Amino acid sequence: MRLVPCPNCGPREQAEFVCLGETTLREIYLRENAKGPVTELWWHKHGCRHWLKLARNTATNEFAS
Ligand SMILES: [Zn+2]
Repeated sequence: MRLVPCPNCGPREQAEFVCLGETTLREIYLRENAKGPVTELWWHKHGCRHWLKLARNTATNEFAS
């Protein structure tokens, strides 16, 4: 079970969220998909229903605090 840190609800199961992927100023199909820190847009669909901008390290799959 992987936990996603929601600032409104606290750590919740990833299944409650929808991830829209990396936020970027570039075209949606030109995402870099590189290893390392990225900022992603998440929607807490089955929780507070807020949009979250979360930092995640794609190499370790952990969220920044
Ligand atoms: Zn939430």
